[in-house]
Amino acid sequence: MNNQRTITLIQPNNRDSEPPLANRYMLSQLSIPVLSKNILQEKIFRLTLSSAYISQRAKPGNFVHIRVGSTGNPLLRRPFSIHSVDISKSRFDILFRVVGKGTELLSQANPGEVLDILGPIGNSFILPPKSKEVMLVAGGMGIAPLWFLFTHMLAKGFDPSRITFLFGAKNKRELLYLEKFKKSKVKLLVTTDDGSLGSKGLVTEAFLKDIIGGNRDHQNLAVYSCGPEMMLARMSDLAKEYGFSCQVSLETNMACGVGACWGCVVKLSDGTYQRVCADGPVFDAQKINFSKIA
Ligand SMILES: Cc1cc2nc3c(=O)[nH]c(=O)nc-3n(C[C@H](O)[C@H](O)[C@H](O)COP(=O)(O)OP(=O)(O)OC[C@H]3O[C@@H](n4cnc5c(N)ncnc54)[C@H](O)[C@@H]3O)c2cc1C
Repeated sequence: MNNQRTITLIQPNNRDSEPPLANRYMLSQLSIPVLSKNILQEKIFRLTLSSAYISQRAKPGNFVHIRVGSTGNPLLRRPFSIHSVDISKSRFDILFRVVGKGTELLSQANPGEVLDILGPIGNSFILPPKSKEVMLVAGGMGIAPLWFLFTHMLAKGFDPSRITFLFGAKNKRELLYLEKFKKSKVKLLVTTDDGSLGSKGLVTEAFLKDIIGGNRDHQNLAVYSCGPEMMLARMSDLAKEYGFSCQVSLETNMACGVGACWGCVVKLSDGTYQRVCADGPVFDAQKINFSKIA
């Protein structure tokens, strides 16, 4: 699951350009302009950022680590999944919910402002053979990396009729991109906590109903999931119980984002630890000990 990756250092203040070879040794730090900001729902924002460097290299599952604000408070960068890329226009998007000070500051970034960003960081989802039945299970902002994975699969020629997208949110307003899903011809199942659209309840339970009721061959499923930790813990239990392959993207709090501080470790079922930033964020759900997320 741990993809080989090259991390490159670009001198701070370098604009978004390929770094000279001599400067490549650790990670890429880029000054990236905000192109546009969209408020999709209350507290849910999408920022479009201009970077040839990141858009050309990003793979579904990768994230960027962003310095928010200009005062050193908060001190630590904040991680966000790459949500979509447009290589032809040299840009990429992040999608985020305002939950605290860092995301509040980021939501105030305006077009033209330049952000200090490390990335792309982390491993990526491993694509399945095209013979597999694909199920994407997103909870809330878990849609961010899974949307990139989904559009990437379609661009790679995966048959949308063999993809099921399950999307759970608090309410119908937070079920993003419904029109785009419709156009894609994918099978879409939605759930909401308040029952305002789709079935009322948890997306994991809709998933379970579908894999049992749908008479699916569990060995032929390739499942990908992102969402709150409790949801991923449930997906991990189901993957173990029903024996399907499942990759999850973890959103653990993290500090350095580059593998140095070990502040974001997860415990695996074999008792060893891995760093979400450098060994993940994508892991085999069956291998994580969710009762021991450090
Ligand atoms: C690899 C990775 C990718 C991520 N991708 C996205 C994304 O695409 N979109 C998005 O909206 N968020 C994403 N997150 C989560 C995002 O980084 C946090 O929401 C953000 O750092 C919160 O910063 P803050 O300063 O606003 O909140 P803080 O003030 O740091 O925290 C506010 C509240 O949120 C809780 N919190 C903070 N971070 C997390 C977290 N990671 N998970 C659960 N609870 C948390 C805190 O415990 C606190 O209760 C990702 C996290 C990781 C590790």
